[in-house]
Parts: sequence; structure tokens; C-alpha cells
Amino acid sequence: MDNKIIDGKLISAQILEEVKSEVIGLEKTSGLVPGLTVILVGEDPASKVYVGSKERKAGEVGMRGQTINFSSKSSERDVIEVIETLNEDDSCHGILVQLPLPNHIDENQIISSINPLKDVDGLHPYNMGLLASGSPRFVPATPGGIKEMMIRSDITLKGKHVAVIGRSNIVGRPLSNLLSLKGEGGDATVTICHSQTQNLIEICRSADVIIAAIGTPNYITGDMVSEGIIAIDVGINRVEDSQKRRGYRLVGDIEFDTVVKKAVAITPVPGGVGPMTIAMLLSNTFFAAKLSL
Ligand code: NAD
Repeated sequence: MDNKIIDGKLISAQILEEVKSEVIGLEKTSGLVPGLTVILVGEDPASKVYVGSKERKAGEVGMRGQTINFSSKSSERDVIEVIETLNEDDSCHGILVQLPLPNHIDENQIISSINPLKDVDGLHPYNMGLLASGSPRFVPATPGGIKEMMIRSDITLKGKHVAVIGRSNIVGRPLSNLLSLKGEGGDATVTICHSQTQNLIEICRSADVIIAAIGTPNYITGDMVSEGIIAIDVGINRVEDSQKRRGYRLVGDIEFDTVVKKAVAITPVPGGVGPMTIAMLLSNTFFAAKLSL
């Protein structure tokens, strides 16, 4: 692979190997096998794929992974009751609710019902607060994966201007907190941009690093960035492609072909940030199991 292309698959495979040996060690010393439960509500095809790979990868690193499926008609109360049972279950160390949820279910109510010590997605207000106040416990998996990916690629953010595009609770907002924290992998000057930002192009052109989490295919183009840019693409968008057996292909929020020409480092889609997310989720689950001791 071109050495400016950051290989998320490779880095995540290294992390998964490390987690696997830690899981083996933990079982040897304490008899504990980390358990991850993923909750899926509804039939969203992309969510089903993500949930399937989370459960499978958990098994591959020696954890107990299980998925609980709810129909799209299930009520908020149905889901919360199961979460409350899992909160009390000693064999379950991590609980993750796959987002988005159907419209009739309040995401905040669901997330808040998870025991913060089992909130391996780091989205509970308590864990979000710890991150915002500079003492993170569980860092949301995608932001955590981006930080780890840069550390392992010898990219230092200290003093750099990072433009985070997107302010969602699962990516943009926690990422902007994380990268501005003191210490390794942090110390960046972060600008957080969103749909109401008026001078996006100027901000992008003045950035050393762009991290796009927008959900619009190829939104960031080569003419929006400066020479020497580090471009991290969080977007996973399905675009129709009759040449593909599935009828679609995955593209990011960054137009790879034009941005790569100016970049010193760039992540591909697929194979960039996506695999890092699962690796960090399992790393968080291992940490949750250790905390339970
Ligand atoms: P979201 O829809 O919750 O948030 C999108 C953000 O983009 C919003 O904050 C919005 O203000 C901002 N935005 C929209 N239009 C904009 C514009 N024109 N200019 C600037 N900002 C704009 O999305 P999300 O959940 O954060 O996900 C974003 C993308 O990342 C999606 O493609 C999603 O599939 C992907 N994603 C990938 C991973 C991964 O593991 N790689 C994880 C989570 C999300």
C-alpha cells in the first residue's frame, strides 16, 4: 500500500492481537472472560452488518459476544428492561446499543439506562462528562480509534490545527474533546464544524488535519484543502454501483482521488477508520471487564 495511505485494517489487526493476549491473560489470572452484549433494534441492513462483525470479532479475541435483536416495533420500555437485566448480570461487562434507533425510541433514555461502568461505547452522559472534563474512562470507539490510529502512524497533533467536520455525539463532539486534551495523541487546536458553519472552506484550507464525519459522499474535495493535509475519513456512505454484486459501493465523506494528491497521510474507505472502531470497542470491553474486578 502507498505509504501515505493509513492502513486501518493492519493497525486494527495489531490492536485485536493485543486485546486477545490480554483476554487470555485475564482468564488465566482471574478466570474472567469478558462479555459484550450488542443490542439491535429493527432491521437496518447496515446496522445488521456492523452488529454481526462486532459479535464475530468479540469471539475471535476470546470474549463472549452476543447480540440481542428487537423488532422495530419494540417499545422503549422493552429495551430498557433488557438493559436493566444486563446491568445486573456479572457475565456481561459491556453493553452497546447499535444506533440509530427507530424514531419512536428516545436514544438518550436508552443510553442513560446503561450502567456507566458497562457503557463501552462511552456515550452515557457520565462518561461523556468525564471525557469533556479531561479524565476519560470509556472513550467512544470511533474517536478513540482515530486517536490510536494517528499515534501508531507517528502523526503528532501537538499544536496542529485540526478541523473536525460533524458534531454528532458518537463522532465529532467527543473527538473534538479528545484531541484537545493534554498529552499523547492530543494537544491539538480543534475547530468543530457543522451544518451551520459559514466559512467551512477557509477553515478546511487553514487546517493541518481534516477529520470528516458528515455522512455525505465525497463532500470534502481536493480544492478545499491545503498541500500537506492529513485527511481522516469517518464517513461510510453507500452509493449505487451496478458493477458491484451488492448493487452499491462504500465511499467516504472525503473525495479520495482529489484529496490524496495533496495529502501527506490519508485514510481509505473502506479499510480506514471503520476497522479501528471495532478494535477500540473490544479494547473498551476488556477494560470494563478488568474494572469489574
Ligand atoms: P450525523 O448525521 O449524526 O452527523 C453528521 C454531522 O455532519 C452533523 O453534526 C452535521 O452538523 C454535520 N454536517 C452535515 N452537513 C454538513 C455540511 N454541509 N457542512 C458541515 N457539516 C455538516 O452522523 P454521524 O453519526 O456522526 O456519522 C457521520 C458519518 O460517519 C456517516 O457516514 C456514518 O456512517 C459514519 N460513521 C462511521 C463510523 C466508523 O466506524 N467509521 C462510525 C460512526 C459513523
